[in-house]
Amino acid sequence: EEQKQTPHVVILPSPGMGHVIPLAEFAKGLVRNHGFTTTFLVPTDGPPSKAMRSVLESLPEAIDHAFLPPVSFEDLPEGSKIETRIFLTVVRSLPSLRHALASLVSRRRVSLVALVVDIFGIDAFDVAREFKLSSYVFYGSTAMTMSLLLHLPNLDETTSCEYWELPDPVKIPGCVPIPGTDLPDPIQDRKNDAYKWTLHMAKRQGFADGIMVNSFDDLEPGAISSLQKREAGKPRVYPVGPLVNMEVSKTSKEEESNCLTWLDGQPRGSVLYVSFGSGGTLSSHQINELALGLEKSEQRFLWVVRRPNDSVSNATYFGAGHGDSQNRNQVENDSSFEFLPDGFVDRTRDQGLVVDSWAPQAQILSHGSTGGFLSHCGWNSVLESVVNGVPLIAWPLYAEQKVNAFMLTHDVKMAVRPKADENGVVGREEIERVVKALMKEEEGKKLRKRMEELKEAGSRALREDGASSKALAEVADQWKKSHIMCNNYCHS
Ligand code: UDP
Repeated sequence: EEQKQTPHVVILPSPGMGHVIPLAEFAKGLVRNHGFTTTFLVPTDGPPSKAMRSVLESLPEAIDHAFLPPVSFEDLPEGSKIETRIFLTVVRSLPSLRHALASLVSRRRVSLVALVVDIFGIDAFDVAREFKLSSYVFYGSTAMTMSLLLHLPNLDETTSCEYWELPDPVKIPGCVPIPGTDLPDPIQDRKNDAYKWTLHMAKRQGFADGIMVNSFDDLEPGAISSLQKREAGKPRVYPVGPLVNMEVSKTSKEEESNCLTWLDGQPRGSVLYVSFGSGGTLSSHQINELALGLEKSEQRFLWVVRRPNDSVSNATYFGAGHGDSQNRNQVENDSSFEFLPDGFVDRTRDQGLVVDSWAPQAQILSHGSTGGFLSHCGWNSVLESVVNGVPLIAWPLYAEQKVNAFMLTHDVKMAVRPKADENGVVGREEIERVVKALMKEEEGKKLRKRMEELKEAGSRALREDGASSKALAEVADQWKKSHIMCNNYCHS
């Protein structure tokens, strides 16, 4: 009976579509290529969004999921940063994680071998230990930010001012020196709770049995080789990317299939796709400038638009997606777009399409008519662009997006980045300039060529004998070994 048990991995994603999507791809790989079964145990702070449910429900049968009971944030001060909320969602879910693990263990056909968390789930290691599970991190962003995290305790000890005040660029091991102003948002205010949590996570990385990172050698050679240098107290790092959703799922929503039909009617490589991820929002003034800049560029565009928010740039992060009107933080559907400049939608009827809140991004980026992507540089968006060979306009908003934008522009050279004015606003002329540069000028051709190389390299990494597949196989083998040991032990 016990011999029939398959090795089973529990995955704990922190809140956010951008965290769940790559973990789902990772789980598919484990199931498809290595014979595992997995369960997602999902911490929540309220009813899960439609987008979240539809991703989890569409997974293969061998990937189960359960939502942990919602945690409460009633005691959190107004204006707590998003990283604090994400981190606390996980921490406050630990008792229910323990409960759920106990009930999984009691099932006869399941042999638990490992717990996989993303960076915010680091405190779940204590619970894993109680169940004698090994603990792995799946890091859904760059090797560069991972390297920064491992370096942060040191930076913290040797720096007395805020990082943005540093006169010289910051040296992150293996990376091109980066201006302090481009370091991640949660470490820009060292008195804020978000900084304390980030430092706490950074210090605990060392306790992982291994770290997988969603990147690949040809994309980040310097950072990856630096991460792989063996040192005491530093876990093994496995680059397993680019893991992105490539499956063309049927979309049921009319609006979603509308934008694919619209793309069908456009010339090859002519459309700029504009999106700020699942959480990104712009101020009213910035939306106005972006609309007028797109119009002035005279280039075709497909723009996923959200209602402006003048206080934060990530207003739809918690529970974003699919124009899901029941979401607590998302305003009702806004298909009237009355917040766009007067007459904009009419004037650009032949030039572009505006879509409300959410679009089938994977399909859009793989569509032949799409020739450029104006992106907030969330790492999944960037990787989806890479696997489709679509060059970028880098427009970071929050989290570690500025680090990504810096790397893409100054190191990898697959993006052009617009300059903001002294108030942090990107004006319409600047938008017109970068859109033209990407879509019709020599600069865009160069970036597109570079993107083609990276697309090729990414697909090599994922071939059966590619570096990323081998790295994942290595992790899977270790887990299988512990599975066999447990089975033998159980028999004796
Ligand atoms: N996404 C999508 N449609 C949208 C916005 C986002 O399908 O309208 C998907 C996108 O393809 C990506 C994920 O949601 O897989 C967003 O992750 P990313 O890391 O780019 O950004 P985040 O939302 O975490 O800031």
